[in-house]
Amino acid sequence: MTTSTSPSSSADPELADRLAAVRDRIAEAARSAGRDPEELTTIVVTKFHPASLVRSLLDLGATEFGENRHQEARDKAAELDGTAARWHFVGQLQGKKARQVRAYADVVHSVDRPSLVDALADPAHPLDVFVQVNLTDDPGRGGVAPAELEALVEHAEAAPGLRLLGLMAVAPLDEEPARAFARLRELADRARSIAPEARFLSAGMSADLEQAVAEGATHLRIGTAITGSRPVAG
Ligand SMILES: *Cc1c(COP(=O)(O)O)cnc(C)c1O
Repeated sequence: MTTSTSPSSSADPELADRLAAVRDRIAEAARSAGRDPEELTTIVVTKFHPASLVRSLLDLGATEFGENRHQEARDKAAELDGTAARWHFVGQLQGKKARQVRAYADVVHSVDRPSLVDALADPAHPLDVFVQVNLTDDPGRGGVAPAELEALVEHAEAAPGLRLLGLMAVAPLDEEPARAFARLRELADRARSIAPEARFLSAGMSADLEQAVAEGATHLRIGTAITGSRPVAG
């Protein structure tokens, strides 16, 4: 069965096929892991792509979208205001941009230091967040070092207005994703011992979603497998 004949998916007939293929991969990964596909949220990462692509994806039933750069995200969110689109901010975030990101983002996946918790926290503006953990040895990559994770989880858990959903991570380039996500699962267990409500796990991209689902991911951040290759940044 194909959904590519949907009359509203005018922009790119292959978009519907790629989306359907990813949904099949996710359903299969869930089955293999003995998990219910219904408990998995797919976020389509639309960075570098125009708002028109998001519109096509909305027509195909997608509602969760991920962006990693504030200005681009803000502009797209403004253009799509009033639609069903929900925005997940997944990129590194400067403290001075935190309030602006909070204005349009439904979820921030990249909380990686106490000062960013403080910048995002506002009892008048509830916000869902993930604490990002760095699975590499490179401190330049986003995410808190595992050794500092527990203190950050405690800080986020106590912050007014923030709802800590769980942990987020990107698999390192030089490690088997299955191994990296197994470590992430252990870190997530540790986080949950401090913050029992933090039961979600944002992990898995186009190349490693199966391994992420096997290790308990609940929020998959899928870019190119759905959108096709990204336009080169200007
Ligand atoms: C770009 C990006 C993704 C999606 O990556 P793909 O390999 O295109 O699926 C997921 N998470 C983050 C944090 C990203 O920056």
